Amino acid sequence: MTDAVQQLEAVRAKIARSEQMADRIAGSVQLVAVSKTFDAEAVVPVLEAGQRVFGENRVQEAQGKWPALRQRYSGIELHLIGPLQSNKAKEAVALFDVIETVDREKIAAELAREMKAQGRAPRLYVQVNTGLEEQKAGIDPREATAFVERCRDVHGLKIEGLMCIPPVDENPGPHFALLAKIAREAGLQKLSMGMSGDYETAVAFGATSVRVGSAIFGSR
Ligand SMILES: *Cc1c(COP(=O)(O)O)cnc(C)c1O
Repeated sequence: MTDAVQQLEAVRAKIARSEQMADRIAGSVQLVAVSKTFDAEAVVPVLEAGQRVFGENRVQEAQGKWPALRQRYSGIELHLIGPLQSNKAKEAVALFDVIETVDREKIAAELAREMKAQGRAPRLYVQVNTGLEEQKAGIDPREATAFVERCRDVHGLKIEGLMCIPPVDENPGPHFALLAKIAREAGLQKLSMGMSGDYETAVAFGATSVRVGSAIFGSR
């Protein structure tokens, strides 16, 4: 087994244990393996080990890596977890199965237009800037519910869940709790939260998917 495969198994085991400790149904938390900055060669062993759900933060990088891998492996589910520029909406809709970073009106409008033009419907999450960090993408938590409603009513977009990245230097628990609260208020089922350093905590707070990169592939 390669290092990445061993680490993948360890992460899966920890997710299973966290589900059990939180009285969650076994297998209810999806593992999104974040392969950004790692090339196809590094990803292949993880695919061979059965992992099928991956996250990338750049449209262009993903375009260079995944079409060929998709020809070799079936059932791949690709998540966009990085900020989306409106001039990349077309490529993003064509490539990704889930776009987790819808965070402003202009992107919602572009996505709606492209989804219609391409007849493709990637599943969508709204990214929430729970820490109100200036440099970070995501909508203000106080505007999130209204934005989810506008996505539906104005743009005809069904939002499936919410995503957040807590500030690096803070206890993530309150951020996960806030995201879960907004999701309840907005009537959303899915919560994408938790990364290598805090995915077990995120499971305890109700994450339905965790995005784990370095704990599987190593440091970037
Ligand atoms: C890179 C990244 C991750 C994975 O981070 P690790 O700490 O390596 O697990 C998760 N989510 C987003 C949005 C990322 O950009």
